[in-house]
Amino acid sequence: MRFTKLRLNGFKSFVDPTDLLIADGLTGIVGPNGCGKSNLLEALRWVMGENRPKAMRGSGMEDVIFAGAATRPARNFAEVSLHIDNSERLAPSGFNDSDTLEIVRRITRDVGSAYKVNGKDVRARDVQMLFADASTGAHSPALVRQGQIAELINAKPRARRRVLEEAAGISGLYQRRHEAELKLNATEANLLRVDDVLEQLA
Ligand code: ATP
Repeated sequence: MRFTKLRLNGFKSFVDPTDLLIADGLTGIVGPNGCGKSNLLEALRWVMGENRPKAMRGSGMEDVIFAGAATRPARNFAEVSLHIDNSERLAPSGFNDSDTLEIVRRITRDVGSAYKVNGKDVRARDVQMLFADASTGAHSPALVRQGQIAELINAKPRARRRVLEEAAGISGLYQRRHEAELKLNATEANLLRVDDVLEQLA
């Protein structure tokens, strides 16, 4: 899976539709302070399912929508799409039936986020799992924030282990285990309820 293009529309300072082509090899982004370099990296994390406003340097998720400027009114939605070359068919199962993948996340004021993969509506969880299983994603150690190296050096062993697990592509398994445990607990509660009813009927 290779990222080939990031398109931003109304995301933070990128009010007009903007394409960032990601060519083979190294892509460098240079520009003066405050021109939006970090916003690009945040857009990448956001489209992969980041759901913590703090990780987007905001207090609520709607803070990613263009907030207006002296000459431009605020926008009502923000959209980011990520194009992926999947010609080697390395995408996790369920998403592996085409040569290209387009993941789109859109947030609309007072409505929230919606996701699509190749035009089909999917859940946030599906997108997060897609990237977790591919050993990348919003929490991937491949995306290095400012200050993250110092954080890692000072981190406790448990936090460092999470980084290794993310890199090994097994973090999706924890989420699945958690969901399975919730289902198991709900089923056990239902069984107790059935026992109660059977006792009353006996
Ligand atoms: P530096 O080199 O200083 O780290 P940078 O190039 O990484 O800067 P960013 O931090 O990506 O810059 O961009 C900051 C700019 O984005 C600021 O001008 C800020 O006003 C603008 N910005 C952030 N959120 C929004 C928003 N919701 N609407 C409009 N502009 C926004």
